[in-house]
Amino acid sequence: MNHPDSLQKLLRSLQQVPYLASKNLYKVANYFLEQDEERVAQLCQSLLEVKQKIKPCTNCFAWQQLDQPCSFCDSSKRDQGLVCVVEKWPDLLAIERTGNYQGVYHVLGGVISPLNGVRLEHLTIQFLLQRVQLGQVNELVLALSPTPEGEATMAYLIDKLQNYSVKISGLAQGLPVGSILEYMDRVTLTKALADRRSLL
Ligand SMILES: [Zn+2]
Repeated sequence: MNHPDSLQKLLRSLQQVPYLASKNLYKVANYFLEQDEERVAQLCQSLLEVKQKIKPCTNCFAWQQLDQPCSFCDSSKRDQGLVCVVEKWPDLLAIERTGNYQGVYHVLGGVISPLNGVRLEHLTIQFLLQRVQLGQVNELVLALSPTPEGEATMAYLIDKLQNYSVKISGLAQGLPVGSILEYMDRVTLTKALADRRSLL
């Protein structure tokens, strides 16, 4: 079926948004078409504003308001020597939601996954290694998903870090294989953090 050009263009843009299942494409497009112009303009404005004002922290790569100190790296209430390594920001949020973690973070930006085009240089691994080399880190908690890519990334990090005096731990075992941190319930994640096992 042929759609008008402008609608086709919207559908193509929406198709590029990951996590938006293709079966929902038309529902989302329909939602926008039903809204009044003012509401759509507000949404576009919020998207632009967030792109301009929110940037990754230059130390931990968590999203932060531009030109303001990082709420994690700058906090004296947090243990700056305890660094939890996560794939993406939603994983960080999942750990924050447990309410039990007192350390700081490092957001890798994903895991090494050549099949999906994610290579070493796309991640913030070199900056994590720098943090360790500068002696800022006592313990790294590798909280990556227990997928083959997550395990391979952890193995790479352990290999790179074995010559430094840093303790490396991983989330407790027994988590369902392939589970993603973001979807883990609070109790399971709290326990996985508390019972973390030493990897090095
Ligand atoms: Zn930071």
